Amino acid sequence: MSPFDIEKLAAQFPLIRSLMNLEPVTWFNPAATTLAAGLAYVGLTEADVTQAEQRLQNFAPYLVRAFPETAASSGIIESDLVPLPHLRSTLNQHYGVELGGQLLLKMDSHLPISGSIKARGGIYEVLTHAERLATDVGKLRPGDDYGKLFSEEFQQFFSRYSIAVGSTGNLGLSIGIISAKLGFRVSVHMSADAREWKKNKLREHGVNVVEYADDYAVAVAQGRREAARDPQCFFIDDENSRTLFLGYAVAGGRLKQQFAELKLPVDAEHPLFVYLPCGVGGGPGGVAFGLKLAFGDHVHCIFAEPTHSPCMLLGVHTGLHEGINVQDLGIDNLTAADGLAVGRASGFVGRAMERLLMAFYTLSDAEMFTLLGLLERDEHIKLEPSALAGMAGPWRMAAAAAQLAARGIDAKAMAEATHLVWATGGGMVPADEMMKYLSVAKLKIACGLG
Ligand SMILES: *Cc1c(COP(=O)(O)O)cnc(C)c1O
Repeated sequence: MSPFDIEKLAAQFPLIRSLMNLEPVTWFNPAATTLAAGLAYVGLTEADVTQAEQRLQNFAPYLVRAFPETAASSGIIESDLVPLPHLRSTLNQHYGVELGGQLLLKMDSHLPISGSIKARGGIYEVLTHAERLATDVGKLRPGDDYGKLFSEEFQQFFSRYSIAVGSTGNLGLSIGIISAKLGFRVSVHMSADAREWKKNKLREHGVNVVEYADDYAVAVAQGRREAARDPQCFFIDDENSRTLFLGYAVAGGRLKQQFAELKLPVDAEHPLFVYLPCGVGGGPGGVAFGLKLAFGDHVHCIFAEPTHSPCMLLGVHTGLHEGINVQDLGIDNLTAADGLAVGRASGFVGRAMERLLMAFYTLSDAEMFTLLGLLERDEHIKLEPSALAGMAGPWRMAAAAAQLAARGIDAKAMAEATHLVWATGGGMVPADEMMKYLSVAKLKIACGLG
């Protein structure tokens, strides 16, 4: 039973009807404002992000030793930018709209250690916790070489503590891998959507995987409960954690540097549009915060969600935030985009970021699979379904000239814009799983769906 009078709610917010009918929607956020006006509501500052950057720098020598695959980037976990020239012409035809400007993919899908955007926030939060524990007992001091954490001695120290987290898969993967490597005992509470291979991979790392037949909200609640019983256990709160959020936000300054290297301008004449797949909201919210700090008012952040899990759109649009979930509207929260299968958005992220996000949209699973197949066919890049949610975004914007013009972005600026699609995961998907995704995608493409 829904605690809401849906008729009344839908009368007040007609868009809800489209959400209930699972129609793909694009919603321009009327509360979007300038960075100067919106920043105060975030509750975090540029100094907080700088501190997170510094902490990750301090941990770089540890990461190089513990995860040799990070040696090439000197222990900094960062992803590449790649152009998509072939997919671009395919999608111009597919959507019947010509996209102007540049189109780039941000390959968080191939971040080292855990192959998803969660390698930003999840790893940062565990490192922060480890630093606090070791500092409190005087085992670690400011200025120390953090490389020393990669040792028997520190592993034994951390084994006295445990970490718990609830996850649809990728957050568990990132937190499980880094926690186990440091020496923590770690439990990952997995929702029913979580893929079997993610659970198996975690077990290989010695992680305690607890499975639920229910959705993400239940897995999180159980994780929270278990942690509350054990004073040595630290619960990583995906719905409310400022630390996770800051780990994601570091992406902003890093992207600014990458743009400088590519001599890509971002200003009124060259706006930057960034398309971010959204689950509970911490990943895209934190990245968007970092992007706003780095680029200011000419970066426009757009969140993408499955038609079956439009939790952030619902929370921000109604102003009810975590007070409503998609199930309250009779929406089932069932999607192949497992990273986005979240029914109730983070109220912290919604309230922090609602003035700094330009638009939200939803797309069907069929559309995500079509995009997955076309990206593989045209560019030979393999992503998991969640990571394709952002790919529809540039063409949604290209088709919204009037709304953009009303926000001071005219056709001339659109011709010079950069569209950046944030590819949030897929780098660790096993070959046989990817084959299954691709065969679903081929069917959708053959049927002309999505
Ligand atoms: C977790 C995840 C997201 C969304 O991040 P949230 O913090 O849950 O909003 C997007 N894509 C993938 C692949 C993810 O794993």
